[in-house]
Amino acid sequence: MLLPLCFTVFCLIGVSPCAAAPPHGTTRFTSSRNKLLLISFDGFRWDYDRDVDTPNLDKMARDGVKAEYVTPPFLTITSPTHFTLLTGRYIENHGVIHNMWFNTTTQEKKQYYMTQFVDSYWDNGSLPIWITAQRQGLKAGSLHFPGTAATYKNETVKVRQVEPRFYDHSNETDWRLNIDKVIGEWFYEQDLDFVSLYFGEPDSTGHKYGPNSPERREMVKQVDRTVGYIRDKIQEHGLTNKLNIIITADHGMTTVQRGGTVNEIILSKIPGFSFKDIKFHLVDYGPTGMLLPKEGKLEKVYQALKKGHPHLHVYKKEEMPERLHYGNHPRLLPIILYADTGYVINGFLPVQFNKGEHGFDNQERDMKPFFRAVGPDFQKNLLFGDFETVNVYPLMCHLLGIKPEINDGHLDITKGMLDLKTNTNNNNGKQCSPKNYSKEVMIGLSAVVGFLALVFIVTMTHTMCKRRRRNQKTSVVNMEKL
Ligand SMILES: [Zn+2]
Repeated sequence: MLLPLCFTVFCLIGVSPCAAAPPHGTTRFTSSRNKLLLISFDGFRWDYDRDVDTPNLDKMARDGVKAEYVTPPFLTITSPTHFTLLTGRYIENHGVIHNMWFNTTTQEKKQYYMTQFVDSYWDNGSLPIWITAQRQGLKAGSLHFPGTAATYKNETVKVRQVEPRFYDHSNETDWRLNIDKVIGEWFYEQDLDFVSLYFGEPDSTGHKYGPNSPERREMVKQVDRTVGYIRDKIQEHGLTNKLNIIITADHGMTTVQRGGTVNEIILSKIPGFSFKDIKFHLVDYGPTGMLLPKEGKLEKVYQALKKGHPHLHVYKKEEMPERLHYGNHPRLLPIILYADTGYVINGFLPVQFNKGEHGFDNQERDMKPFFRAVGPDFQKNLLFGDFETVNVYPLMCHLLGIKPEINDGHLDITKGMLDLKTNTNNNNGKQCSPKNYSKEVMIGLSAVVGFLALVFIVTMTHTMCKRRRRNQKTSVVNMEKL
């Protein structure tokens, strides 16, 4: 009887690795947690390493994990997809629905850079990982990553650098200075736990010259040199065995079709459509657009555009395909437009001249970014399947040993890329060190021994009482006999 009892008690006490761990925010297990560097190279398409010699990216793949590609959320543009990396939420759930802030009443629009400083645009329900990490006792930093400038629930990422307004995002010398700062100052001197680091290339070059251009291939070589430089700096500072690195991007890039034979999308030329029926519009911004029709004009606008162009997709917000997760947020305007790959949406006249563009359906292969990871918690030389970028957030929380906020990703999707120790030392997003594990096993065992001692004492006392009562009874019977 005692054996099953012991087993039950053992289970009830629970010697699972984290059972006796104090709640997060009170204690840090600094001895076991490795640091994490999240890097985004804007617009680095999944296959950009195929037509360029990339020795450093190849070495990183051999030393760690390379995913075939990853799928960003729709729409595939910079601020919304970066905020998905930081929160693990689809765009309709985190609410950073566009690169541009806008006000449909005043008609005001802010471009990408100025939108970085509109706190209310970013801080609307989803906390980026920096704030969650800081609340749970970690030190976080961010350099140039979209969302860095904003304040979330009265808190900013404590260590940060926001780029100046007119910043050259392609200067390799600046890249190296920024890397020196992140590795040498932030991780090494200031002992930060997590840093997000952003580079604005190869996106700009892809837009300007197109994804199949020699200029883009040159820029990929610059990215590759930079990856080598980052890993060398990490090695120099003795951080190789303490720092995990994830390198990915926000979206891919595709060639814009242009020329005499191309039937360009120009809304003003579509029969039955008039900008006079529109109160506010967000077009001339790549392959997507949003419209707010004037009162009573929604159906007219919708019907005209719906059959307006063979490469234009037109949806009422509530009818957006569910798989895109881009129909359910109050900021989204009543009519949402997106174009087939290679087409952009113009309003009055063709005003867009980029040779490369993104923003298309996230199922398009050209919209998929790359994904690499290396470090003490990752497997070596592992080719991994594709996955959605909402799953990067729970992976990062797991690596940092912090409890994630509500999110749309799952650790199960990515945990196969972790080495066995990191993979199993987890319980609901918590991570425990081997030291704490043994401590907790000891606490559990002591409790079991204590309980068994108690059971022994109770059983012995009970048996002795029974024996004494039987003895007394026997003596009474004997007395009567006497
Ligand atoms: Zn981008």
